[in-house]
Amino acid sequence: MKEQVLRSLERRFKFFFILIILVFAVLLARLWYLQIVHGEKHYAESLGNFGRQIRIAAPRGNIYDRHGELLVSNRFSHAVSVVPNDLLKNPEALAFLSNLLEIPAEELTGRFEKLRSSEREQYVPVKHDVSPEVIGRVLEARLDFPGVTVEKYPVRSYPLGEVAAHLFGHIGEINQEELAKMRGLGYRLGDLIGKMGLEKTYETYLRGTDGFRILQVDSVGQHLQVLEEIGFAPGQNLRLTLDLELQLEAEKALSEHLVWLRENTEYTSARSGVVLAMDPRSGAILAMVSYPRFDPNIFVGVTDQEVLAGLFQDPLRPFTNRVTREGYMPGSTFKPVTVIAALEEGVTGPNQNFICTGMDRVHGTLFKCWKQEGHGVLNLVEGLAYSCNMVLAELSREVGPEGIAKYARLLGFGSSTGLELHPLEIGGLVGDPDYKRKTRDPRWYPIETVHLSVGQGFIQVTPLQLAQAFMVIANGGKHYRPWVVQRIETVDGRVVKEFSPEVTREIHLKPSTLELVREGLEKAVSMGTARGAFWGFPLDRFPVAGKTGTAQIHGKEDFAFFASYAPADQPELVILVAVEEGGSGSLGAAPVARRLYEAYFGLKRRAAPKRELLTDEAPVEKAPEEKKAPVEKKVPVEKTPVEKKAPVDEAPVEKTPGEEVPVNESSAEETPVNESPVGEAPVEETPAE
Ligand SMILES: [Zn+2]
Repeated sequence: MKEQVLRSLERRFKFFFILIILVFAVLLARLWYLQIVHGEKHYAESLGNFGRQIRIAAPRGNIYDRHGELLVSNRFSHAVSVVPNDLLKNPEALAFLSNLLEIPAEELTGRFEKLRSSEREQYVPVKHDVSPEVIGRVLEARLDFPGVTVEKYPVRSYPLGEVAAHLFGHIGEINQEELAKMRGLGYRLGDLIGKMGLEKTYETYLRGTDGFRILQVDSVGQHLQVLEEIGFAPGQNLRLTLDLELQLEAEKALSEHLVWLRENTEYTSARSGVVLAMDPRSGAILAMVSYPRFDPNIFVGVTDQEVLAGLFQDPLRPFTNRVTREGYMPGSTFKPVTVIAALEEGVTGPNQNFICTGMDRVHGTLFKCWKQEGHGVLNLVEGLAYSCNMVLAELSREVGPEGIAKYARLLGFGSSTGLELHPLEIGGLVGDPDYKRKTRDPRWYPIETVHLSVGQGFIQVTPLQLAQAFMVIANGGKHYRPWVVQRIETVDGRVVKEFSPEVTREIHLKPSTLELVREGLEKAVSMGTARGAFWGFPLDRFPVAGKTGTAQIHGKEDFAFFASYAPADQPELVILVAVEEGGSGSLGAAPVARRLYEAYFGLKRRAAPKRELLTDEAPVEKAPEEKKAPVEKKVPVEKTPVEKKAPVDEAPVEKTPGEEVPVNESSAEETPVNESPVGEAPVEETPAE
């Protein structure tokens, strides 16, 4: 009996034991299924039921000039954000939004489908910088269409408009390619990102860290309360080496000079150019202008597609930063390179005399000096000052193309300078027989050496490189890496990163070489080709050294250049000006540099350049006999009678404020250049504000 009871108990026990095991097995299987197999789905659903994340965008860092002037900042704007899954489930909501935001429904769904499934459950901005009307309609419709909201957020603002646009760059919505590359860094669809200029180069510093807010929502997606909020960290600020005052003057001087050229000379196509101001003691950039420009504000918020298309199709390429991305034949601004080559290689010296009769034959090819009647006898310093082609032709025969190319490279041509700015600078070209053999033709003609010596032919330089070469001449051989950001700071002023002058390379030129070249450049301004442009400028107090250049471009008017530095005895500023289709260097470019020196040295009263003295060399021509006469009729610089009128010319003329200020008002009427040297009083202007 007892045994029977025990056996029965044992059976029951076994039965329950097996039952318990089975129940646990089923529960475990279910748990595994829920946790592992459907985990992501359930997690997403649970968020859908309880919390939704909204990003709080961090403002981008501000950009300041060297004196703390605000250059780029932020303003507040509104974006429409949606929870993609809510919209994908609700065709009515999708249609409403597509209609309101003027974005095709297929485009919206296409964008949503590219998101990861967890991202589709969060708010994603679909349109930035929407109008108050759109905000109102979204807020009204929010009750009907949960998952659609308006977020207030900071947007980029460029209060200076087109000023320094190529330097600051612009932002834009992140594209698929960028998103794929930067996903790990927390970027998501609809984010704004630096696209060019400093905005792109310093994106990681400027961007900041977004905060977020988790909202409790009910089963239909209506917001109930804020569950959690994490604040944003604003982007870091950039302090530049740029001098806003000088930048504004450079923008103004160039744009006004372009207008003046078009209205008062035959250079009616003068619409583009650059101005670059740098400190030869450090490589710091003080002003950088590329013309034509664009307004970076057009990329913020609702972009006017028509305006944008117009800019992209503009043959003058307003988005190109010509300072770093355009290769120019430098014309005579290159002549110091050839002179340095000849002096360093010992093939000439300060006492050698040259004879210029106005033309010469190089192995049967006629080669002309810009001064038809010839310069007569001159030495090397005078050769530079008067930009005599014959002097350079003779030197080039001695130095050879390889010699010229060698010193061109030593001075920085043909390779990048190292400036950190997107898009990156181009390297340009220094061509020699080897280059030509490899790329087009095994033959190198003697006339090509002559062309190279005067900055024509197989030579392409960026304005940045040309300024760099003049910095090297000015500072005695140091290549500084050009830089424009001096400091990166947090909002509360803590320094995150500091930049300082960096010598990337040093070349050792003989003191006698530097002395001669510098004297030639100084005389080019005081008595040579740039004399007219600096007429009335106090060179005794602020000596300027520089070189004009005129490059002949096939099918276009001549390109004008002026490369310079001052004070000549202790250089602290290098100014480079290039004007496409602006004619000669002294007419098209030097007057702009002069205005900048006046601004920099704080010269209140401006004497205008003397137009009739704005004479320069004509570019080298391969077949001069057939060519039309050079655009400007050359006047012997030394013999013009205008000099005697100097005292009369000093009379200041008051300007009415707000009036347009051409560089030289006195010759605004249709006086052909160089033909009426007498009787015009150069106008002195009060500084135009
Ligand atoms: Zn000559």
